[in-house]
Amino acid sequence: MNMHARPANEVLLELPREVDIEIAGDIEKESVFVSPFIERIRIEPDLKTARMTMKPGAPVEEIAGKAKRFLEVMVRQVSGFEIKVFVETARRDQGPYQIGVNQGLVERGWMHDYGKGQVAYSGPVLKLARLINDKSGELYAQAFGAAEAHFPALVDAETLHKCGYFDSHPNAVTFVGNMVEDFDAIEEFRRANSCSEGALMPPHEHIHVDGMCLNPAACFPCYPTLSGTTFDTGRAYTWLGRVFRYESRNISGLDRLYEFNVRELVFVGDDEYVRDCRRRSLNVVESLATYFDIDCRIQTATDPFFATVSAAKKFWQAAQEVKNEIKIPSLDADGNVKQLACGSINLHGNFFGRRFDIKDGAGEPVQTGCVGLGIERWVLATFTQHGFEPERWPKPVRDVIFA
Ligand SMILES: [Zn+2]
Repeated sequence: MNMHARPANEVLLELPREVDIEIAGDIEKESVFVSPFIERIRIEPDLKTARMTMKPGAPVEEIAGKAKRFLEVMVRQVSGFEIKVFVETARRDQGPYQIGVNQGLVERGWMHDYGKGQVAYSGPVLKLARLINDKSGELYAQAFGAAEAHFPALVDAETLHKCGYFDSHPNAVTFVGNMVEDFDAIEEFRRANSCSEGALMPPHEHIHVDGMCLNPAACFPCYPTLSGTTFDTGRAYTWLGRVFRYESRNISGLDRLYEFNVRELVFVGDDEYVRDCRRRSLNVVESLATYFDIDCRIQTATDPFFATVSAAKKFWQAAQEVKNEIKIPSLDADGNVKQLACGSINLHGNFFGRRFDIKDGAGEPVQTGCVGLGIERWVLATFTQHGFEPERWPKPVRDVIFA
């Protein structure tokens, strides 16, 4: 008997090179987009092998080939990144990290999980979400004179195309579909649903997708509004953005939502202004983490892109090297500490300035940079670090959220 026999639907694939544990997690997460025949891809403890489990009846060779191409792209992208830590805060709260926060919030009636990557919340969760948003907005106004703005949740595909999003994250886009303007098709849809138990979707040929999408990155909708503008001096803008990223099967509580909120801060100006803002934003995020009394780290980003080759992707990769992530420790379902990416600090160079015709005082394409904070992840990480006993929370925070 062969001791190494595996179930027929499992295949081991060798990675092009060894990866670290965080990259392994990213590969596992992105693998849901590789093929509907794949149950899961897990990186083995040796960090050099991927174990792929397929559904019964999968064309093994074809799927293995697809998975190999995916792994090749993922591993190649992340080679040569050195992780640097720029800021590290340590909480004063001595209590243990709270396990099962998502469930705890639901049990207390403070959160409702619809199960498809969206949540409703109220009470202390809502108050904390608002406090994180308000406090960061306040700090941004103080530090950068950032002007408050508002942008829609629907975004034109033309804007996403210009922003290079289809090149960098094509798997995460949500297209909006509408009924065709056709009386019979609309009637058919109405009749079908009036007597059905569950919702019935119209056939594909009765839906048109005309290039409206749900916005997948908070800063994108601001650039079209700046087209044709010249910035003699640098300016900062801030707003609460609603963001949508299709996560397929990866959705999980507040850890990974399909729809979430981002407190966004965008810098527009010359190189010196934008770099100075980026540098100072490290201190601002540090102040925010200190205010909420949480362990937090700002470090170089490692997240790979689900993309192959293109000019825009080169920009996104270069952007990766100047992208910092705000990591806040949280717990996974088994109670192990995991670093939750709760925001990012990005320098874009003149990419958006060129693509949207925005100029600096010298008539050159303007430089931009942004800071995005994922509000719901900050909520999760803060509850994880302070638990459900109000006494463990810093006084200014508990006075607001448990009031
Ligand atoms: Zn941004």
